[in-house]
Parts: sequence; structure tokens; C-alpha cells
Amino acid sequence: MELYHLFAIMSRQIWPLGFAVYKALYILVHMAVINPKSVKVNVTTGTGMDIEWDDGHRTHFAFQWLRDACPCATCTEERNTHHRNPGESAKPSASLLPMYKEPAKPKEVKPVGKYALNIAWNDGHASGIYSWDYLREICQCDECRARITTS
Ligand SMILES: [Zn+2]
Ligand SMILES: [Zn+2]
Repeated sequence: MELYHLFAIMSRQIWPLGFAVYKALYILVHMAVINPKSVKVNVTTGTGMDIEWDDGHRTHFAFQWLRDACPCATCTEERNTHHRNPGESAKPSASLLPMYKEPAKPKEVKPVGKYALNIAWNDGHASGIYSWDYLREICQCDECRARITTS
């Protein structure tokens, strides 16, 4: 199992242990089966990332969503502290004037071995390693979202 998964599982230890075990099995099953057939990162148009999986499934992510789902240790911990799910934006503080934020876009996307992508974002954050099974797990299509809410 990759280091990332161990970390992801450890970071979920605040959840019931049963869930962590289920999660580990789920990840293992997924890792064995599904890889992307093609990955398109639409930086010029800014429309996000499109993945076609080798089982025919298709996934689309908006860049901002993907930025807010960054799986690195810092972002995961930050989300856990504020009880946010991957992809959920931080609520802007009411006491501060809204600051202009450039829309999230990748500056560079690099493959990491055969199992992941490293995305360097235009806000300078570059430590997120997005593994295929993580991306598949957080797939935002109607079908997958329905599966997540019913399980
Ligand atoms: Zn991060
Ligand atoms: Zn899906």
C-alpha cells in the first residue's frame, strides 16, 4: 500500500475504526482494478480535468473543486479540523473584506509513477499527490455521488 493511503487512513482515525478498515479494503480493491485510459487537463479553457477510466467511467472535476480536495497532509488536516469534505471550499471569514482570489488553475501537472498526478497550483501550493484511486473515489458524477450518499 502506498504511503499516501496509510496517511489517508491514519487521518481518518477520528472516525470509527470500522470505517477505517472498510476504507482500506475499498482502496485495495480499487487499486487492483481501475486505471485511467486518458486524462485531460484543460488549463487553457479553465474548464477542469476530465478522466476516462479503463472501465468506461468518466469523471469531471472543476479546478477549484480539485484544489479544495488536495490530498496532501496539510490540506487533509486543515479539512478535518474544520469538518470539511474534499472539494468543499473554506468559508470566507465574515469579518474580513473579501480579497480577490485568482481562480484555481494548475501551473504544472506531473505524473508520479503509474499511480498518481502531482498538481502544482497557481496559488503556489504544489504538494498534492492525487492518486488514481483517490480521484476515482471522489468522482463527482451523479452515479458516484448517489453511491456515496446512500452507503
Ligand atoms: Zn494540499
Ligand atoms: Zn463517477
